[in-house]
Amino acid sequence: MHRNGFAKGHLGILLLSYLPLATLLNPTCNPGKPGMLNVHFVCHTHDDVGWLKTVDQYYYGAKSSIQRAGVQYILDSVVSALLEDPTRKFIYVESAFFFRWWDEQTPELQEKVKMLVDEGRLEFINGGWCMNDEGAGHYNAIIDQMTLGLSKINETFGSGARPTVAWQIDPFGHSREQASLFAQMGFDGLFFGRLDHDDKSNRWANKELEMVWEASANLGKDAWLFTGVLPNGYGPPSGFCFDILCNDDPIMDDPRLREYNVDNRVEQFIKAAQTQAEGYAANHIIMTMGEDFNYQSSEMWYKNLDKLIRYVNARQQNGSNVNVFYSTPSCYLDALNKANMTWPTKTDDFFPYASNNHSYWTGYFTSRPTLKGFVRQSNNFLQAVKQISSLLEMGQDPRLERLKNAMGVMQHHDAITGTAKQAVTDDYYARLTEGVTESFNLVAEAYGKLQPSVPEAEAKVTPVFCPLLNESSCTLSETSPSFIVTLYNPLGKPRMRYPVRVPVPKDIAYKVTDHQGNAVASQLVPVPENVLNLPGRKSSAEFELVFIADIIPPLGFTQFFVQRTENRLFYKTQQSKIIVPQTEEELTVKFKESLLLVFDKTTHLLNAIGIEEGGEMKTLKVNQTYLWYAGMPGNNVGEKNRASGAYIFRPNGTSPFTIADKVNITIIQGDVVTEIHQTWSSWMSQVMRIYDGDLLSIEMEWLAGPIPVDDHIGKEIINRIVWGDTSTGGTFYTDSNGREILQRIKDYRETWTLNNQEPVAGNYYPVNSRLMILGKNGFMAALLSDRSQGGTSLDDGHMELMIHRRLLHDDSFGVGEALNEEAFGEGLVVRGKHHLIFSDLAPPGCDFGCLQRSLGERVMMPPIMSFMSTTLPQQTWKETYNTQWSGLQQSLPLNVHLLTLEPWLDGTLLLRLEHMYELEESNPHSKPATVDLKDMFSSLEVISAEEMNLAANQLKKDGKQYHWAVGTSHPSTNDIDSITGSRYGDAVDDGFTITLQPMEIRTFVLMVKKSTKLH
Ligand SMILES: [Zn+2]
Repeated sequence: MHRNGFAKGHLGILLLSYLPLATLLNPTCNPGKPGMLNVHFVCHTHDDVGWLKTVDQYYYGAKSSIQRAGVQYILDSVVSALLEDPTRKFIYVESAFFFRWWDEQTPELQEKVKMLVDEGRLEFINGGWCMNDEGAGHYNAIIDQMTLGLSKINETFGSGARPTVAWQIDPFGHSREQASLFAQMGFDGLFFGRLDHDDKSNRWANKELEMVWEASANLGKDAWLFTGVLPNGYGPPSGFCFDILCNDDPIMDDPRLREYNVDNRVEQFIKAAQTQAEGYAANHIIMTMGEDFNYQSSEMWYKNLDKLIRYVNARQQNGSNVNVFYSTPSCYLDALNKANMTWPTKTDDFFPYASNNHSYWTGYFTSRPTLKGFVRQSNNFLQAVKQISSLLEMGQDPRLERLKNAMGVMQHHDAITGTAKQAVTDDYYARLTEGVTESFNLVAEAYGKLQPSVPEAEAKVTPVFCPLLNESSCTLSETSPSFIVTLYNPLGKPRMRYPVRVPVPKDIAYKVTDHQGNAVASQLVPVPENVLNLPGRKSSAEFELVFIADIIPPLGFTQFFVQRTENRLFYKTQQSKIIVPQTEEELTVKFKESLLLVFDKTTHLLNAIGIEEGGEMKTLKVNQTYLWYAGMPGNNVGEKNRASGAYIFRPNGTSPFTIADKVNITIIQGDVVTEIHQTWSSWMSQVMRIYDGDLLSIEMEWLAGPIPVDDHIGKEIINRIVWGDTSTGGTFYTDSNGREILQRIKDYRETWTLNNQEPVAGNYYPVNSRLMILGKNGFMAALLSDRSQGGTSLDDGHMELMIHRRLLHDDSFGVGEALNEEAFGEGLVVRGKHHLIFSDLAPPGCDFGCLQRSLGERVMMPPIMSFMSTTLPQQTWKETYNTQWSGLQQSLPLNVHLLTLEPWLDGTLLLRLEHMYELEESNPHSKPATVDLKDMFSSLEVISAEEMNLAANQLKKDGKQYHWAVGTSHPSTNDIDSITGSRYGDAVDDGFTITLQPMEIRTFVLMVKKSTKLH
């Protein structure tokens, strides 16, 4: 039954099914025995894609002194154990490891492995490149990493091997969006190991460890997923670990032995099974027989489990009702479904995760912020490279694959989380840097293809990407007297009024002209002192040349010509006006007469915002500053001695400390941008700025570090904004993996009574893109971030995001190192951005929902900037080159996000379009959107479009999920179900016009040909 998705066959899907009929055979699940307690043994290994050792070291089993773990031996050993006995089963999760091993096997062995897969003896579970983190992962990257692994399984083993169960046994808390994505990927169920300890005890007592998760407030039953909490983390019951890494006794079954232990061991086991059954509602239970990197010598496990099965089941003749057998999660799920029971439901998420009263795993939401920022930037870059490769029909280039693989590895629950050892983190950086660098070359090649073939050598000049723009440094722009700036916009809609910042040396003026040769206003803005003093910074840039790119076309680029000029008069006009307040007076910075920022006369901190409404100035009281929590020291002996560390956030006390009573302030004004530079200390500063863009926001570019620790106190830095006169009653909102918004209530959990003994850490939630509050009279505010962070609202009107952490103690959850990042012999420095918005900033035709979603999309996917040095005069450049180009014929609707465009199998393209609004979130935009696929692209004509599930490993029409009866059906989701219609009802409409409902993602495989229209 659980395999009926392919029992009907997928022979029609040429793209997916390469295998003969044999793959489509229905493997058998042991159905168990009615009236008995049926125990499903699930033999598994948990193989981290990097943690204490690098992914390569784990694969080969290097550095055994750190951890005895070698994945190649696990797969060797398991496959031979499975081939020896057809009753044995095994599941495997991480495609990043599996396909390395697969590529090393002989064709003969590969055939045998295919047989094991076909017969359901080796089953792929989850099947992503890794088992991704759910707290710090962004949905775009999660979908990509799942697609990467699942497509490899499809290509290699055919659609019959499609994983149907999601297996998130180790991630530190579980997001609702992840469950929703799994459901949309066609998974039938999800199992995990970690949830709040009190939540687990309650569920155990109420037999509610298994439930139906109604995982979206918008998508109805399309996002329902059966979810089970595993009984024992993901390990075996106590006393029954037979691995070479374990110390439990084997089954000693020769009756002549003095140490014969069968009776004893069988009784122990039956007791363990009965104890476990107390927490579960059905007469089927699952036992995870495995642990981290288990089965390197798998005969130890199998030999003892074989015996255990034989001896335990033999007791049935004496009246025992325990029946045990080899199984898999999908067979277990099938048995639960067949039990025809009614299940409880769940509509919130499983954050934050506390493993005891003082161990909230909320530190990792922020740990290693530079890594988190780099991953987010790389995601944007990967999307752009995939788009460009698609539009120019460059196919699945190995350079692109490298970046995809690196990004897949980065989503692992010890990678993006910042919970790997430093040496492993260095390896992650190196991997991602390699991937990005190779993809740069691919993009450079693509830009070349878009240029006309000119005989001059100039045409061969390749663009340079400046990876150190985040420290205001770029060798080319600093040294070249004349250069071209190319901006590629990865959004499916034009990017209007985008601020461009180019690092340049001092005392030099530059003229900027746009793609048509028109002069563009520009301004020279000094680089802040703390940036100039960055450890390791090697740059002559003391200024940034700032100008506005009026319009960058969708999936396209535009170019600017930048040239040094000796004109001193021009230089004067380009200079910013710099104001350093001399007296103690309240500072008011005006922006276009309609917006004022007011800074306190003593502290120089923001204390009010004035905004013009209906001809009058309205004042909003708001304070903003950076503060720090002292990280709890501790030896981790007993709950109360837990230290704040890579996983755990545990402040020593509930109030954060101030960095300085008064900040130094400089105001920089000019035609293009107004900036307020504030310095708290040598290690904390910020630039607050407002551009004259088409959406207003107050940008806060923060620079934190090196965090001083010579006082032996670890520090965790926050940006805190406090709105006065705003009653939020402990309620705030955070995004789930960057998509749907969840309500959070201080010191409250929806499904159990919280006894919060960590008043700060227990209220921290993952923020992947935004934290919002809703005040009186419809006032709304949001703080958007450029990377994943932890955040909360601990008091009325508060918004708080943690930006950096430097700690001196390990929290004793395995990593064995304090989170004390250094670079250039000092504490690591991080530069990032927050965007502050509030309802009054919404422009005409755009409400707050529209403001936060549109800005969120822009923050997530800024234009990709590259540089080319040139000796051509501006006029020749303009006449010679293609200075503006778009891959789209027209903009996508404003409420549609182009999520994926990537080269797919056999010259096809994979396209995902997403409705980026929730129901009722925005008056103008929460309506269905339609897109015409046929004429979407400028250079490609779409010949056919096949709709797939979200993972693109099954035709959408072939998707079929189990039916589950639920106890308390959530009323709103039922309503939604009738609004959006059934999951499988929306085929591609007549022609190529498709409709998207709020929050819907639709995935298509497109066959395309070069468009004749434009050539
Ligand atoms: Zn793990």
